[in-house]
Amino acid sequence: MLNETTKEIKDRSALVVNPAKTCQPIGAMYAALGIHKCLPHSHGSQGCCSFHRMHLARHYRDPIAASTSSFTEGACVFGGKSNLKTGLENVFAIYKPDVVAVNTTCLSETIGDDLNDIILSTKIPEGKTVIYANTPSYQGSHVTGFSNMTKAMVTHLVNKNKLIGNGRLAVIPGYVEPSDMAEIKRMFAMMNVPITMFPDTSGVVNSPNTGKYEMYPEGGVTVEELSDLGNCESTIALGSFSSEAAAFELEKIADVEANVLNVPIGIKATDDMMMKVMEITGLEMSKELEFERGQLVDLMTDIHFHYHGKKVAIFGDPDIIIPMTEFVISLGMIPKYILTGTPGNAFEKAIGKILADAGIEDSKFKAGGDLMELHQWMKNDPVDMLIGNTYGKYISRAEDIPLIRLGFPILDRVGHSLFPVVGYKGAMRLIEKISTAFLDKYDRECDDDDFELVM
Ligand code: SF4
Repeated sequence: MLNETTKEIKDRSALVVNPAKTCQPIGAMYAALGIHKCLPHSHGSQGCCSFHRMHLARHYRDPIAASTSSFTEGACVFGGKSNLKTGLENVFAIYKPDVVAVNTTCLSETIGDDLNDIILSTKIPEGKTVIYANTPSYQGSHVTGFSNMTKAMVTHLVNKNKLIGNGRLAVIPGYVEPSDMAEIKRMFAMMNVPITMFPDTSGVVNSPNTGKYEMYPEGGVTVEELSDLGNCESTIALGSFSSEAAAFELEKIADVEANVLNVPIGIKATDDMMMKVMEITGLEMSKELEFERGQLVDLMTDIHFHYHGKKVAIFGDPDIIIPMTEFVISLGMIPKYILTGTPGNAFEKAIGKILADAGIEDSKFKAGGDLMELHQWMKNDPVDMLIGNTYGKYISRAEDIPLIRLGFPILDRVGHSLFPVVGYKGAMRLIEKISTAFLDKYDRECDDDDFELVM
């Protein structure tokens, strides 16, 4: 437990305590699962692959299929070329995927295996494809891995010969839940805007129990759809850390305009996405979405006294916590501490601007930080609520404040893979969670005289 965390903050340049991120291949594997009939392949030891699969399976509570090059001492010394070649032949023969998405690991990157060379010299069965991304875990985070694999989808699969506009928008949803991807698709459908979403893990890692194991569930973007991305009218990339690299790659190779926005968490980020859709398509706002937005505004005003003025600490992936910071400000809360484990100046710039625009001066924020530092900030000047992934539960218990579970991974609660937090509906769900957490704590702790029926 973390009750003994000290208030005194010492400079640590070479020690991370309780990281606020995980390793690159996890994100790469998650992105790869968003291609229909794709088997992710981890080029490294069995241990890496088991860890990645375990983390994803615990978060999604669904089986996560992936293969591995299964490095042993020999591969560590001589390189993993023969392991990968044999592995790919076996995978296509036994598991029959349409695509294999290879990610590297710390070990194969340190050895210096040349994936391009290995894959070019491997016999790939007719009609099958291999894509690959370099994902060394000593750089970036799982978000970087997601970004690298999503970019690889464009690099390796998009047909560069532009034919004719297909009338679709390419939408890159960012490193969000399958439920969020489904919600974004629902919103575009309500606008009558045809899209190709990639990657798309909805229906893959939150598939229904039919009583029959499907190695490749129904969901996921198809290879044909990825090949046709170059004919899209424009790209909407949600979340600069996880999506902009793929969007710029598509712009570079097929001249499809890239529009990079925040993940639509909260009212402002969702409004921004809808404004951009209207600007690109020339369409009017859908009546149903306008109705949902009105409900959100109504809820925000009805119960603002549940959360207004409360101080909150937020941690997690940059693309999630940037719009979440914006959202808590629009609820009248004070984002006191904002921290991500993913490195990158863009995060500090974005948060700095949001705080400055809101006139908030004494908040702390950091990219590449860890949970010990966040906890120490909170020890010195407490907050009322913590928002972040499951790893925050130790801090929440030590400080006796509610934890709103948001982001990756969530290993001790359910719902995230089924119910969205994006869009107007998602914002209402977040308000419900925040408000309920405060009221539950009050009901638990207040005197009998203050125990109210109506709140
Ligand atoms: S060795 Fe590297 S790639 Fe493998 S699990 Fe550890 S951090 Fe991830």
